[in-house]
Amino acid sequence: MFDYDAIIVGSGPAGLTAGIYLGRAGYRVLIIEKDAFGGQLNQISMIENYPGFVDGIAGPQLAAEMLGQAMKYGAEIEQGEVTGIESGPDLRTVSCGDGRRFTCRVVIIAGGSRPRDMGVPGEDALKGKGLIHCALCDGGQFAGGVVAVCGGGDAGISEALYLANLPASVVLIEAMPALTATAVLQERVHSDGRIEVCCGTKVVRIVGDEKVEAIELKDAESGNTETRTVDGVLVHIGIEPNTGYLRDVLSLDGEGQIVVNERFETAASYILAAGDIRSGSPRQVVTAVGDGAAAAITAQRLLQIPGKQ
Ligand SMILES: Cc1cc2nc3c(=O)[nH]c(=O)nc-3n(C[C@H](O)[C@H](O)[C@H](O)COP(=O)(O)OP(=O)(O)OC[C@H]3O[C@@H](n4cnc5c(N)ncnc54)[C@H](O)[C@@H]3O)c2cc1C
Repeated sequence: MFDYDAIIVGSGPAGLTAGIYLGRAGYRVLIIEKDAFGGQLNQISMIENYPGFVDGIAGPQLAAEMLGQAMKYGAEIEQGEVTGIESGPDLRTVSCGDGRRFTCRVVIIAGGSRPRDMGVPGEDALKGKGLIHCALCDGGQFAGGVVAVCGGGDAGISEALYLANLPASVVLIEAMPALTATAVLQERVHSDGRIEVCCGTKVVRIVGDEKVEAIELKDAESGNTETRTVDGVLVHIGIEPNTGYLRDVLSLDGEGQIVVNERFETAASYILAAGDIRSGSPRQVVTAVGDGAAAAITAQRLLQIPGKQ
């Protein structure tokens, strides 16, 4: 007897959607989450491009609705970090860092991604001491202060706009010669007037002992350096998939994302992957939801194949 028909690793929009589909279809399903239920949704102040919400929806609100829906259909949830997945001929064993082990027939890996580090001196030491990755979660401390936002992509600009509304004085730093975010967000930041934009500027060092005090910058063209006094630094220069523990288990692409076929099956039988974590993901809420649904449908097909119970 297996503990569950399916185990889902991660409770972002991909994992919760898979949980809704499998729970509603009557399968015994467990969702394991190492951090906050809802995944990256918890970091988004307002999602404007998820269909069905004309005025947008706050990420934590959407997370709560999805979680409630999955639980309503019987999905069980556990807090824990999955550190290993073993695949036998009939069953899969999912191990957690605290020693718990669960068996199931199908695993859906929906572990998403996390912000990439800049790899500059001071970064590691000052994490949580003024260096943050999420304005909605940790930005309130900077109201009335000065914050450097590193990263001119969609997430960086969204975070900069949120911080400017606190209000905080925001310096947006992008290493490339121009911002890389979608046009609508670039327009918003340029017309905002409250955000200073520094393109072609590299972060060299984060300065501070007990907390962030300044940021050292280098102009890519002239090579000139300057040190800016800041109260905080928010980093959003890209993301990395949460696949460290899967390196020896599954086939990963050059970015470390899990390679899947069109049915979201990985190279290992009965192990599926969905959302930001899978190769080629557009890394959007709506695509994570679509992946979660499609992976759950594949899981249902696999669960209908007779096997040992
Ligand atoms: C600041 C910001 C703004 C964004 N704005 C938008 C937007 O406006 N529109 C949009 O469409 N998208 C936006 N995104 C992107 C969107 O949030 C992601 O594409 C989406 O959340 C991916 O969903 P997911 O379920 O694949 O993964 P995630 O949301 O990353 O969830 C994965 C979950 O798995 C958990 N997990 C990982 N590894 C393990 C493990 N080993 N054991 C247990 N649990 C594990 C993680 O803790 C996490 O909770 C934004 C992202 C950020 C950070």
